Amino acid sequence: MNIVLLGPPGAGKGTQGERIAKTLGIPKLATGDVLRAAVAQGTPLGLAAKAAMERGDLVPDSVILGIMKEALALPSASKGVVLDGVVRTVPQAEGLARVLSELGRGVDAVLLFEVGEDELVRRLSARATCESCQTPYTGREPGTACDKCGGKLVRRTDDEPEAIRSRMRAYHEQTEPVIEWYERRARKSDDAGARDHNGPRVVRVNALGNIDDITKIVMKGLEG
Ligand SMILES: [Zn+2]
Repeated sequence: MNIVLLGPPGAGKGTQGERIAKTLGIPKLATGDVLRAAVAQGTPLGLAAKAAMERGDLVPDSVILGIMKEALALPSASKGVVLDGVVRTVPQAEGLARVLSELGRGVDAVLLFEVGEDELVRRLSARATCESCQTPYTGREPGTACDKCGGKLVRRTDDEPEAIRSRMRAYHEQTEPVIEWYERRARKSDDAGARDHNGPRVVRVNALGNIDDITKIVMKGLEG
């Protein structure tokens, strides 16, 4: 089962993605990790990505998709993958669909983690992060010491309310069209009477609440 995760930063999709991957016995692929691995291995596409980064450019979508395709073609990914941060724009959704269809596969499910902006602000601005080891803590005061390394906890500028609201605006502008794109495809394949590889199931998940409960809801949504 190939699963795409969508959701704003702070909605916990990384954590849930790991749990889903573990439960289904498939790997979780995040763009950043796959990219770093390709760069470290010095593959031709990895070197192209490295060159772009060294110039201070964004790594082109075509390079990222090529690297993704290589990761998707690995035997370890043959039963499926959980894709985190791979699709943020419609062109990326189209690119992923193309790459998967070249491998004779498709996106089977899109998990959309939904969270209200006010709640996200409340949640993230209650977070303090260790400036040494980057461990995040919820409900701890900045200035106190990290449990793991004794480093100082600080509030990241990313977690300031204004920064969160601005990220949410960017997320909605970019991602709403992606959600519509997937939902159109899902409807089309329903009309055709069979859910083929063109139409994923789109599962909306309220991302607030108990982590275990959310995992259960997600797994049920994937089965249903
Ligand atoms: Zn620390």
